[in-house]
Parts: sequence; C-alpha cells; structure tokens
Amino acid sequence: MIQSTLSTDLISSHRLPGASESKSASQTYLDKRVTKTQRQTKRTRSQRARERLQTKEHLVGLARELHEGELADKLDRCHSRLSVLTCGRHIARIIPNFTCEFRLCPDCGRRRSRKLQNKYLPMMSGFMLHNKVTPVHLVLTQTHRKETRKESAARIRNSFTKLMRRSFWKDNFKGGTWSLEFSKDKNGLHHTHLHIVGFRRKFFDIALLRGEWLAVTGDSHVLHLKPILDLAAGLQEVVKYVSKPLDIRRFGAADLKEFLGLKNMRMFGTFGEFRDFCKGFVPSDNDGDEITDLESLSRNLVEGCVCPKCDQPLFDLRMSGKELPQFYEQTESSPPGKVGRSWM
Ligand SMILES: [Zn+2]
Ligand SMILES: [Zn+2]
Repeated sequence: MIQSTLSTDLISSHRLPGASESKSASQTYLDKRVTKTQRQTKRTRSQRARERLQTKEHLVGLARELHEGELADKLDRCHSRLSVLTCGRHIARIIPNFTCEFRLCPDCGRRRSRKLQNKYLPMMSGFMLHNKVTPVHLVLTQTHRKETRKESAARIRNSFTKLMRRSFWKDNFKGGTWSLEFSKDKNGLHHTHLHIVGFRRKFFDIALLRGEWLAVTGDSHVLHLKPILDLAAGLQEVVKYVSKPLDIRRFGAADLKEFLGLKNMRMFGTFGEFRDFCKGFVPSDNDGDEITDLESLSRNLVEGCVCPKCDQPLFDLRMSGKELPQFYEQTESSPPGKVGRSWM
C-alpha cells in the first residue's frame, strides 16, 4: 500500500514587497486568447473536488473503452479512501489509501504540483535574494499546424531553446522555470503554450522580445508578459499545468490513446542560471524560511494537535473519496467547531 500526503490547505501566501492585496495572479491574469481553455474562475474547494471526481470518472470510462483495464482500476482505486486530518473547519492533511501516479489523474496531479511548489518556492526566493532579478510570467505561443501533440510540443521547445541562445535573452533573463500547456482550437489543431516564470535582469521593450520570438519561430510573435507580484501565486499559476496539462473534460478515447504514447515527455523544467542554482541549493536561515517551516509544520501534524488556523484540536476522519466534496461543502458553510465527529 502506498501512503502519501496530499495537500495542506494551510499554505501561506508569499507576497513580494509592493504587491497589492487585492490582486492575485489568477485574477489579473493575461489574455483571453491565451488562457481561455483553462482560465480559473473562482470556484470553491468543494466544486473543485467534485470536478476532480468527474474528471476521474471520465478518464476511467475512456480507459475502459481502450481496454486499458489496469489503468482504469488504478484510477478507480486512487484516492478512493481518505484519512482527513481536520478541526472540522480546516483541513490540515489528507492521506489517501493509494495514489495511481498517472499523469492525467487530477488527484495525483494536484499532489505533484504541490510538491513542485514546495520544492521550487524556497529556491526561487533564494535565487532572488542572491541576484538582483524580478520574476515575470511569460507565455509563449505558436501558430497552429496540422501535427501531433508530440510534434507541437517539440516545436515550441525547440523555439524556446533557440530563443535562450540569443544575446537578447541572455542580457535580459537570468533563468527560471517552464511548463507546457496543451489545448486544441476549434478546428482540432494543437494549441501549445510555454508558461515561464522568468527572472528578469532589467526592463526591456516587449516589442523587441516579440521580434526575437518571431525570429526563432519564423511565424509566431504572440506572447504575453506580466510581472509576478506574489511569487507563490505566480509559481502556482505555472505549475498548475503540470497537474492539468490539458482540458480532460473534452478528451476522447483517441486523445487518451495519444497521451499514453507520450510517456516520457517532460512537462516542467528549469533553465539558465536558475537551473544551476537549484542543483546546489541548501536552504539556509535566509532562504524561504517561512515557507518550508509552514510546510513541515503541517506534515508533522497528527490527531490531537491544534489546527494552525483556528487552534481547535485536530481529529482524523475516514471517508471515501466520493464524500470529500460534500465534506468540503460543510466546512465551507459551518462556523468553527460545528462540523465534527458527527459527520459521517
Ligand atoms: Zn491518481
Ligand atoms: Zn481549524
């Protein structure tokens, strides 16, 4: 039996100096043309949990259609029984009975992107402390062509590699992370983006960057750049594509089959000086201290500890994965202490 820890819902926001309170990366985010498919509207945790269940059921159905019985069974079992450490109002930890680790599984994807966040956030903070750089969210797009998903991904990654070799890029960016997002346009052509958290050395004219992108792609100049005011939210915005690389609700059996053929495709990576920085990174007193502390705090929580959010005692609730949305719903609508052991 594989046991692993899922999210804590107690992650602090890690704001940069000068960040406005009312803004979050998802609210002010970019351009409809780019993000239409996966734009996050504000949904409650119960709605998101319900969507994850539906996505999973849809995937299980597609897997059965393709006679991928083993995959279907694994998805079915994944997060089917949960141990939820809660005060009744907040959830400190969720421990699933089993994790399938399938790349499109929404529960495993969510865990994977949390892991990436926890790993890279302290490194990003550290990198910024050691270098005079500011983080930006850059989205690179390319023209749609008749090609496979694999070809589409290879094309944009090749263009990005070429871009990074150019002196304009080296003069202006010190490194960062990238992740891939896939969607399809209404004609069924692949629409692949690169989402980049880039560490900018200085201000530059965006028109020049567009020209550079056009030079390496040959036919694409569409990109979007926006400063990141809240590093945690900015990173989350980018790693969410690791958990949700595409819109699975519009996925058919043929799409799943194509995806199963992409086993080793990388969806996330680091580049430039940030990549070397990550290799040698040891957290110190100054580097992202508050974040790692909070994370390890909730990892060490057990039944009987007090909830870090409200000081009520935590207890362990066992439930099936299907009951989680309803539990979230109750925690969302209840005053402190009202959802308790009576729930089940
Ligand atoms: Zn899973
Ligand atoms: Zn609480």
